[in-house]
Amino acid sequence: MYDYISITTEDETIRKLLDSPEMESYRSRIMEERKRLESISFAIQGSIGERYLTCGRKKCRCHKDPEALHGPFYHWTRKVDGKSVGVWLPVEVSDLLKDWISTDRKLHEIVSRIEEITREAAEWIHSEFRDDRKKKK
Ligand SMILES: [Zn+2]
Repeated sequence: MYDYISITTEDETIRKLLDSPEMESYRSRIMEERKRLESISFAIQGSIGERYLTCGRKKCRCHKDPEALHGPFYHWTRKVDGKSVGVWLPVEVSDLLKDWISTDRKLHEIVSRIEEITREAAEWIHSEFRDDRKKKK
């Protein structure tokens, strides 16, 4: 059933632990996260900010009156090689990217949960393995 998340090991203790009900419950939690992954498609990092700006016309009210600023303009910022990079976008494109950014957040939440479940499983296996070794001595 779980051949696509199978683990090969020569060690009999590890093999027994992997077949235990505890591991089955970790495995089913991983499977739930994998199901959530199926709803993920386009995913992109960054954030969309709304900006109100002054224009180039010296006599325009926007230079004196904050209420008269132009906008909103949409600005997509993201990290590229540790540096923040920004692009101005038309509202239609920014709406689409907001969707993809929100999908990206969901994707990262799923990845974090998979890592958390795996950490719990690793701690459990480690502790059971240690206890088993003690008994054998
Ligand atoms: Zn202006």
